[in-house]
Amino acid sequence: MRFKKFIFLSCAFLFGFRPLPSAAPVEEEYPVVILGGGVAALTAAVQVSQAGFQPLLITGPSPGGIIVQSHSIHNWPGEIEISGTELADKLQKQAKSCGALFLSGQVIDVDISKQPFVFTVQNSSDPSKIQKIRARTCIIALGALPKLLQVPGEEENLFTNIFTCAPCDGLRYKDKTVAVIGGGDSALTEAHYLSNLAQKVYLIIRKDQFKTIQPKYRDSILSRPNIEVLYNTSVEAFQKNNQDLSLNLATPQGPKQLTVQGAFLAIGSLPNTALFKGKLDLDKEGYIVLKNQQETSVPRVFAAGDVSDKIFKQAMTAAGDATKAALQAQKYFEAKNLAQAAPAETLKPAEIKELASLDNLDTIVSSSKKPVVVYFYSKSCSPCRSFSYTYELWASQFRDKAIFVKANDKIAPDVFYAYKINSIPTVLVLDKGKLIFQGRGSELAKLPSVLEKPDTK
Ligand SMILES: Cc1cc2nc3c(=O)[nH]c(=O)nc-3n(C[C@H](O)[C@H](O)[C@H](O)COP(=O)(O)OP(=O)(O)OC[C@H]3O[C@@H](n4cnc5c(N)ncnc54)[C@H](O)[C@@H]3O)c2cc1C
Repeated sequence: MRFKKFIFLSCAFLFGFRPLPSAAPVEEEYPVVILGGGVAALTAAVQVSQAGFQPLLITGPSPGGIIVQSHSIHNWPGEIEISGTELADKLQKQAKSCGALFLSGQVIDVDISKQPFVFTVQNSSDPSKIQKIRARTCIIALGALPKLLQVPGEEENLFTNIFTCAPCDGLRYKDKTVAVIGGGDSALTEAHYLSNLAQKVYLIIRKDQFKTIQPKYRDSILSRPNIEVLYNTSVEAFQKNNQDLSLNLATPQGPKQLTVQGAFLAIGSLPNTALFKGKLDLDKEGYIVLKNQQETSVPRVFAAGDVSDKIFKQAMTAAGDATKAALQAQKYFEAKNLAQAAPAETLKPAEIKELASLDNLDTIVSSSKKPVVVYFYSKSCSPCRSFSYTYELWASQFRDKAIFVKANDKIAPDVFYAYKINSIPTVLVLDKGKLIFQGRGSELAKLPSVLEKPDTK
């Protein structure tokens, strides 16, 4: 599916498709390792750290998690409105300030058959580096990805006119016309939610009846005057027409077009549990089966958030689950009086100056004896978000070799214009005013070797 493809591509450009080494040494051991970097993982990290234990988070391909795709969140306690990016940043800052350790890498294999558990991790900034991390307890917070229809026009309009969460994005369709696509309880729930806001809700279902375990609930929703069900109908394509979205439908009467302002997909989601198949109890859709309070079928392995919640899937519920998982894990290592792991070797963070303008960059370049690395980014660019962590890591690693700065499209558009940057993330290296490297996509992975060159002082 395309979500997966997107994540794969965003990792692939950093990983550069290099083959993996076959063996790697077993490294640090931690009292608790948290798999994931989203709301659930970050909340669990805060809770574990507050208890005086230093957890390690392995943040995966999307640091900050899926919430960064939300422009506006209204149900987070203490915030009237907050963007997903800002919320993820705040949580991350809080976890770091409590002492949580972060590893920017992707778990590629797990062994939870015996103690200590072993997680094989491919490093994000150096994909040839494979680490084996040992843990006494583990919290799985790997999230889930909404399924897509995989039809033309879907990818282009995703998160502008096509969404996957009505409570998150429904508000923008007050008094407008929307379509909900799906034939199960989640489609009914989305339609219910939207019918309280929108003027008209089309519920598009491929079959002639809904798959529900709550027939009374279904009937009460379908009797709402502003909900119209289109049975035996499938969406073949989407097209954007100014503010409207046209849906090409295949119906028993032949092809039809439906014009709405927004569409919501409720066709299920895929939990990120492939690594745990055959190792943990999963339900038939792949969600982790929980026993008592976030416990999985393997003792000392807990799960929280969308990876184990196929009903609510909210940042709020992910945070609540994560707190419970952390408290459960904490009880375990307090009871066993486990020694705290030695802190992982951490790099001193380097300063990455935010450029104010092209003049600002010119001054830095002309006054620096070292090469200047410029990272072009935007707050709304998801791949930039993943790359930012790698950039911070490289800035620490090569702090003695170069000056690291960043250019934001809104703050310093003249720098973008001067270097003709039309795709981000892009990085360039200027040495004594001369451009010695410019890369984007998979070329970004070449930056360390550029900075390692003996002539790069
Ligand atoms: C557009 C949108 C708007 C939303 N708006 C709201 C809202 O307004 N309010 C609300 O409460 N909820 C909202 N939600 C839902 C909310 O974002 C999620 O329920 C919540 O963020 C789930 O958090 P999580 O930590 O369980 O999973 P995720 O956020 O999905 O995190 C999963 C993490 O696992 C990591 N990972 C994946 N694979 C690997 C691997 N192999 N190795 C290591 N790490 C890995 C990823 O990098 C990621 O960091 C919204 C969702 C979307 C998509």
